[in-house]
Amino acid sequence: MPTFGTKRIAVMTSGGDAPGMNAAVRAVVRTALDQSADVYAIYEGYQGMVDGGNRIRKMSWESVGGILHQGGTEIGSARCAEFRTREGRIKAARHLVNHGIDRLVVIGGDGSLTGANIFRKEWPALLQELVEKDWIGQETAGRHPALSIVGLVGSIDNDMYGTDMTIGADTALHRIVEAIDALGSTAASHQRTFVVEVMGRRCGYLALMSALATGAGWVLIPENPPATDDWEERMCEVLQAGRETGRRHSIVVVAEGAQDKNGNPISSADVKQVLEERMGAETRVTVLGHVQRGGSPSAFDRNLGTLLGHAAADEILSADVGDKPLLIGMRGNRITRTPLMQCVEQTHSVAGAIGNQNYDRAMELRGGSFKEAYRTLRTLVRVMPHPPEPGAKRLRLAVMNAGGLAPGMNTAVRAAVRLGLDKGHAVLGVQNGFKGLIAGDIRELGWMDVTGWASMGGAELGTNRKKPSGSDFYAVARNLEEYEVDGLLMIGGWDGYQGAHRLFDQRDNFPAFNIPIICLPATIDNDAPGSELSIGADTALNSIVEAVDKIKQSAVASRRCFVVEVMGRYCGYLALMSGLATGAERVYLHEEGVTLSDLEADLSHLVTGFKKGKRLGLMIRNEAANPVYTTDFTCRLFEEEGGGLFDVRQAILGHLQQGGNPTPFDRIQATRLATRCIEFLVEEAEKTSPRGAFIGFQAGQVQFTGLEDLPRMIEKDYGRPKEQWWMDLRPIAKVLAQPGPNSE
Ligand code: ADP
Repeated sequence: MPTFGTKRIAVMTSGGDAPGMNAAVRAVVRTALDQSADVYAIYEGYQGMVDGGNRIRKMSWESVGGILHQGGTEIGSARCAEFRTREGRIKAARHLVNHGIDRLVVIGGDGSLTGANIFRKEWPALLQELVEKDWIGQETAGRHPALSIVGLVGSIDNDMYGTDMTIGADTALHRIVEAIDALGSTAASHQRTFVVEVMGRRCGYLALMSALATGAGWVLIPENPPATDDWEERMCEVLQAGRETGRRHSIVVVAEGAQDKNGNPISSADVKQVLEERMGAETRVTVLGHVQRGGSPSAFDRNLGTLLGHAAADEILSADVGDKPLLIGMRGNRITRTPLMQCVEQTHSVAGAIGNQNYDRAMELRGGSFKEAYRTLRTLVRVMPHPPEPGAKRLRLAVMNAGGLAPGMNTAVRAAVRLGLDKGHAVLGVQNGFKGLIAGDIRELGWMDVTGWASMGGAELGTNRKKPSGSDFYAVARNLEEYEVDGLLMIGGWDGYQGAHRLFDQRDNFPAFNIPIICLPATIDNDAPGSELSIGADTALNSIVEAVDKIKQSAVASRRCFVVEVMGRYCGYLALMSGLATGAERVYLHEEGVTLSDLEADLSHLVTGFKKGKRLGLMIRNEAANPVYTTDFTCRLFEEEGGGLFDVRQAILGHLQQGGNPTPFDRIQATRLATRCIEFLVEEAEKTSPRGAFIGFQAGQVQFTGLEDLPRMIEKDYGRPKEQWWMDLRPIAKVLAQPGPNSE
């Protein structure tokens, strides 16, 4: 029987499994323990609730250890026909009250959440019936007058209203994009055409975004079928034109639920037949199937699961009797709480719109960025540059990288070049950042010059940390005039922003600088002002997380503490987010500072932990956290003072963090931002006093900030923005890392 006053909650995963569910379960359990609640896990979804017995288990801090990096769900998931019946739900209710549980966090798709809502509504009646059957006492029923529900969406399809991303969708995109990248190289060798079928019965998210991220030639999704009856003809025309301009392969991505405008399904086999018959193309079909669900969750899904799970536990513990169920989601890096049933209804209305062939409505309901992605993709797959609009000036737009290398720079350049050409303008590539702008290392780029760049790591245009000063300005001005540059897009990080600002600042002295200038944030450090996220940071984060997973595995047999040093210069984003994603027990940031007494406290935690039998310690340290207490110093201190209880190793991850091909997220956002930057340049070029600005994401929206605002937004000495939204996540990382006094 429950101790009076102690809240009891349960967490379960249900429906299709999704990578990142484990992170959510771990966060729910640990957050609740931290608040002195009792937490139960219900194994195997609703089936476990109906069955009871050892399928409902009390959880401890340790019982959710070591699961963050696992795919699927450790507490199991199932589809349960019995729970759809009242008899099934009676049993489920009996098992819950017998454990004293009347607060439930459900992690699943819309089916699971609908089921939860039905259960909640019936709860008082179910308990009444249990009393009548004498299966529970009146007093027990009286203690649980209502069932509180909080829902989290675990689904690889990203098909739910109420959250920008569902838990698992980012990982599924990783799997798909890896597969399409791999197919691309074999297809190119044989000049083949591949049709790739991806999941998404009612939602084209995975198909659309993977096509955008891989530079696929065509995409078919349920929400927006080809507008004409002869879609086959149009698709073949576009792919054929691609071949003629030199593409060596074509990839068509088909969502499972793709259909034509009359609602007839279009299968991958149909597409293959069309391509073979009409183009005579040797075509292979790859149905990705369940690989899309599998594998270790991406850094994003681990952190999404963690943050949503933490918020869900907070919410369910503070719920009052009779509170309406909520869905906890994420919009633009902020946790949102929306009435659960509103989310389910909106989600069903998209399916309804597709069913009724009301495709405009379906696209409308999917939201702005989905529509924008679709538009961008349609432009990018077109192979021929367009002539300028009649009467419009043919602009000459320059594109360059500057600052440290960031994966995704090539993706952004490709999108900028193609969109510029598509609008009828000339696009100039500046080689080697500001050095090239000073030296006149500038050339016109054609449509095919950027083929394959969507998925390529590195920076084909080159990049470095040079910032123009002194006589450089004169050289830059001369080159801008000589090449008749009408607008400049700088894709890069801190030094690129500083460089662009210097040109902007010198406008009075150099009239050639009086052109629109736009900066696109591309730096793994995520320290660009005016943007909550910069291109490259997600790739770096995934590289760190993969490396740390391996480092942790290497320590299986020994008692060992690792101190892992990550990049970021003075910005602790990578350190904190990788700490959250890998379950590090301590993160050292320059923003917080590190003192000797901090290190002493950490050491004493380590000693206590290892004495109690812990086998592995993990600390993540930002490279610039403290100039005196370096990674090496920290390791030596811990080892010396640890008294032989454990050994300590350092791992300085170094440049692997800047390498690798960009993740789907970085590719998609790079494309999105580059599109808007080109629009900005074209619009501003018409004005007598064109603006200089930097673009970025703020609360999920694309925003422009004037370059004149740069100085007031930054901490100059430390090269980072004054405001960093992710600093608010520090308390969550702390709660989840180590058991506090309440949870031991
Ligand atoms: P998902 O949650 O991924 O959408 P399902 O639709 O298969 O997956 O739902 C998972 C489980 O949730 C079902 O097997 C069933 O036990 C329960 N469930 C779904 N819909 C309902 C419903 N209308 N009433 C009661 N239980 C439901």
